[in-house]
Amino acid sequence: MDMERYDVIVVGAGFGGLTSAARLAKKGYSVAVLEASSELGGCAGKFDRHGYRFGAGATVGMGFEEGGVLKRLFEELEMELPPMTSLETIMNIYTPDDTIHYYQKTDQWYQEVDRVFPTNSQQVKRFYEEVFRIGSRIDQLLLDLPVFPPNRWKDWPKLLKYVNPNSIALTPYMTQTVMDRLKSYNLHQDEAFMSFLNGQLMDSVQTTADQCPAFLGYAALQTFHKGAFSVKGGLATIAEKLAESIKANGGEVVLRRPALHITPKDGRWVVKSRRERQYEASKVVLNNSLHNFHQLFDQEVHKQSAIQKDNLTSSWGAFMLYIGVEDAFSEDVLYHQIIQDKAKPLSEGNQFLLSLSGKGDTQMAPPNKRAITISTHTEVAQWWKRDDYEDLKDKYTERILNGIEKHFPDFRSTIDVLMPGTPVTFERFVKRDKGRVGGYIPNGRFSWLHHQSVYTGLDGVYACGDTVFPGAGTLGTSLSGWMVAEEIQKG
Ligand SMILES: Cc1cc2nc3c(=O)[nH]c(=O)nc-3n(C[C@H](O)[C@H](O)[C@H](O)COP(=O)(O)OP(=O)(O)OC[C@H]3O[C@@H](n4cnc5c(N)ncnc54)[C@H](O)[C@@H]3O)c2cc1C
Repeated sequence: MDMERYDVIVVGAGFGGLTSAARLAKKGYSVAVLEASSELGGCAGKFDRHGYRFGAGATVGMGFEEGGVLKRLFEELEMELPPMTSLETIMNIYTPDDTIHYYQKTDQWYQEVDRVFPTNSQQVKRFYEEVFRIGSRIDQLLLDLPVFPPNRWKDWPKLLKYVNPNSIALTPYMTQTVMDRLKSYNLHQDEAFMSFLNGQLMDSVQTTADQCPAFLGYAALQTFHKGAFSVKGGLATIAEKLAESIKANGGEVVLRRPALHITPKDGRWVVKSRRERQYEASKVVLNNSLHNFHQLFDQEVHKQSAIQKDNLTSSWGAFMLYIGVEDAFSEDVLYHQIIQDKAKPLSEGNQFLLSLSGKGDTQMAPPNKRAITISTHTEVAQWWKRDDYEDLKDKYTERILNGIEKHFPDFRSTIDVLMPGTPVTFERFVKRDKGRVGGYIPNGRFSWLHHQSVYTGLDGVYACGDTVFPGAGTLGTSLSGWMVAEEIQKG
C-alpha cells in the first residue's frame, strides 16, 4: 500500500479548499487537494449537459474589485483574473407591485430608493450609510481574525490584540439584529422595504432581518455595492484558475479522489481514499461541510474535536432549475430575483434567483442561446421522503415557471433543456450531508457565538468553507480558506 507524503492535504476543491491550497502551494508547501467529484468548485462549480454549461449553484461573483479578497488572492498568486463583467445593475427584483433595479453605485441606488421606497427614502438612505460605515470596519477586521468566533477558552487571549477603537465601535452591531437597527430607523414597518431587504439577506446570509446579527448582515449588504460580477464561463472558471495555480506551484489536485477516513499517526494524519490509496501530512484542511465532519473520523478522535453534531446550526437546501433557452432576453441585466408573495416565507419557490449566462458567452451556451441557473431555498427533510420526490419536483418546477411567466411572458416556449436539482442532487454531486448547502443559518443576535472558527480542536486539522465563520458565499468561503493558509504558515 503506497503512502504519499505532503505538508498539507486539502479535502475538497470548493472555493475554501482551493484558496488555502493555492496560497500554501505558492509559499512552497507541498500540497495535495483531494476532490471526491469529477468537477472543481463544489457548489460554485459547473456541469456540462446538452451543449450548455450550467453553474451548479453560485452564479454572482464578489470580491473581484480592487482590494477585494479574490482580487488580492489572484495578485498574490501572480495570476490574471479571467474576463468578467462588473454589473451596473446587480439584479432586478420583481415583487407583485414593482420592479426594483438594484444598482451597484450608491448614488444610482439612492435615486432608485427615492422611487421605490418614497415614504421612507431618507431613512433607507441613512440606514445604508450605517451599513457602509460599519461594513468597512468589519472588512478591516475579518481578514486578520482566524480565531473568530472564540469557540475555545484559549482563543480569548488571542483576541485581545484586536481590541482597538475600530473593533470596539462594532460592539453594538454584535449585540443587535438587523431588525433592531431597522427599528431605530423606523423602517421595520415598511412592507416594501422589508420585503426587498429580507430577500437580499436570505440570498446572502440565509436568514431574515429578525434573526440576523447586525454585523453579519451589514458585511453582506455592503458587499454588492463594492462590486458584483458575472464571470465569463461562470464561477467555475475561477476554481479552474486556482487549480492551475496549485499545479503550477508543484501541488496536486486530484478529482474523483474522496477522503474516506482520517486517522492520527505519530503526530501526523493519514487520509485514506478509494483503492487503498493513502496520503500522509502534518496538516489537513477540511473543505467538506462540517455537517460531514463526523463521517471522516473514528468516534474517539471525533470526540476530542470542537465539532459536535448537536452543536451545528442548521442549513437550508436548494431546489434548482437548470434551463437552456433561446435567447429572447432583451435587457442586459443578468440576475433576476422574483418574490411571488411578500407575505409568505422567502423560500420554497416563493422567492428565487434566476441567473442568466452573459450574452454571447459561448462557453456557457451555444450561439443565440442562454444557460440559466435558478435557485430557491428549501427545507431539506421533505426531499428525502422517496414517495413524494417526483411530485414535489414537478410542483416546485411549475411554481417557479409560473413565477417567471408573470414577468417574462411565454418563457416556457423558449425552453430547450430543463433539469431540476434538489438536495438529493447536492448530496450526490458535492457530497453535502442531506444536501445542506449555503452555510449556517444565523438565528438570533448572539448566534455568531455558536459558529465555528477554522480550528477544529484537532491538532493540525483545520476547517474552511461555508459552514465555518464568516460563512456563506464564495467570498466568505475564500476568506476562511485564506485564514487557514495564514494559520498554517504561522506554524
Ligand atoms: C444554490 C446556491 C446558490 C448560490 N449562489 C451564490 C452566489 O450567487 N454567489 C456566491 O458567492 N455564493 C453563492 N452560493 C454560495 C456558495 O456557492 C458557497 O458558499 C460556496 O461555493 C461553498 O464553498 P465551500 O468551499 O464551502 O464548499 P463546496 O462548494 O461545497 O465544496 C466542497 C467540495 O468538497 C468536496 N468533498 C466533499 N466531501 C469530500 C470528501 N470526503 N473527499 C473529497 N472531497 C470532498 C465536494 O465534492 C465539493 O467539491 C450559492 C450556493 C448555492 C447552493
